Amino acid sequence: MNIEKNLEKYAELIVSTGLNIQPGDAVSIRFSVDGLELARKVSKKAYEKGAKNVDLKFNDDQMTLDCYLYASDEAFESVPQYQVDYAEAQFKDNTHVLALIAPNPDLLKPADPKRIADWSKVVSLANKPIQKYTLQNIVKWTIAAVPSDAWVEAVFPELPLSDGRDKLWQAVFDATRVSTDDPVAAWEAHDQALKAHESFLNEANFEKLLFEGPGTDLEVYLVENHRWMGGSSTHSGGDRFFPNIPTEEVFSMPHADKVNGTLRATMPLSVRGQLVDDFHFTFKDGKVVDFDAGVGKQILQDLLDTDEGARHLGEVALVADNSPISNTGILFKNTLFDENASCHFALGASYAENLKDSRERTEEENRALGANDSLIHVDFMVGSADVTVSGVTFDGETVVLLQDGEWQI
Ligand code: ZN
Ligand code: ZN
Repeated sequence: MNIEKNLEKYAELIVSTGLNIQPGDAVSIRFSVDGLELARKVSKKAYEKGAKNVDLKFNDDQMTLDCYLYASDEAFESVPQYQVDYAEAQFKDNTHVLALIAPNPDLLKPADPKRIADWSKVVSLANKPIQKYTLQNIVKWTIAAVPSDAWVEAVFPELPLSDGRDKLWQAVFDATRVSTDDPVAAWEAHDQALKAHESFLNEANFEKLLFEGPGTDLEVYLVENHRWMGGSSTHSGGDRFFPNIPTEEVFSMPHADKVNGTLRATMPLSVRGQLVDDFHFTFKDGKVVDFDAGVGKQILQDLLDTDEGARHLGEVALVADNSPISNTGILFKNTLFDENASCHFALGASYAENLKDSRERTEEENRALGANDSLIHVDFMVGSADVTVSGVTFDGETVVLLQDGEWQI
């Protein structure tokens, strides 16, 4: 495999299609050492397209872990305000964000879960005033991934590291359509297919969805005047962009108080650098009233205890089992990939764009309509070839949407 050639195409896809960089845009790249080579290529292409500035935000897994293990309590008390101000000043100066993640699914395993949970809350609260820039697509933003050694080892524990690394790069290139001849054109066609599903679901205007499968029997009402979204988004300045590379989902807004039944996760979940596996939830009137996990129950408990909204759903997403990601046959142990190979829900905040006219109402008014507000938004996977998803119209007609992993529409 020619990693170098594909990296070039990957960078082109990120700059042209993902962020859709235009003359005068600035870019902030968040990355670690594993992403350096790709970040350089992205930066060069962004400048070639007229970017006025490329700013770097470097992070390092070892330093992050060491901070959790060795820093004093004082280090976890507050986020310096100048960091938030800096980020906000950048957003206001037409800066768009690229996160090049290098997953490390079990990084924080040795750290104190309470410290992790408390710190996540402090960070989310501090960043709440600037959350809107990405959550409401005021700026363009894209998340893409590069393999780290830890990720390679988590996905291919049986392979020698160098073989595993090649195999994971290939899987990333396949899942993102970078290994096709013309990835930018492939994404155009892919976007049209997702928009077709989006239109069908919006026209059908289902009152509720039913999920049925092993350990799953769940009824999910959608908010009235919900909107399904898939593929490209549009930022406040009118540019099309793709928040996730890859993306296979069409998603909408469940009613935060109208979800009943049980559901079993179909894949493990890496949340805040710790693994949760073999878990299920029971919902009553939208709230998680019971749950259990074979691995990481305390991590799940801490997550649910974040705030009131953390026990309610904020997103429902439909994904066919037949996609370049699922077809790799790999469990990525990373949400960006696994959520795009499987139907999923998110606990926590909903997306404003999934409810019509939500920006013209107050947060309280939207909450009363079934939107959810929380410091968290954590996706978890519930889809598989064994899970059937149906939509029920306001007239009581049931339409099978996904069966045996395939779209039925
Ligand atoms: Zn999603
Ligand atoms: Zn989500």
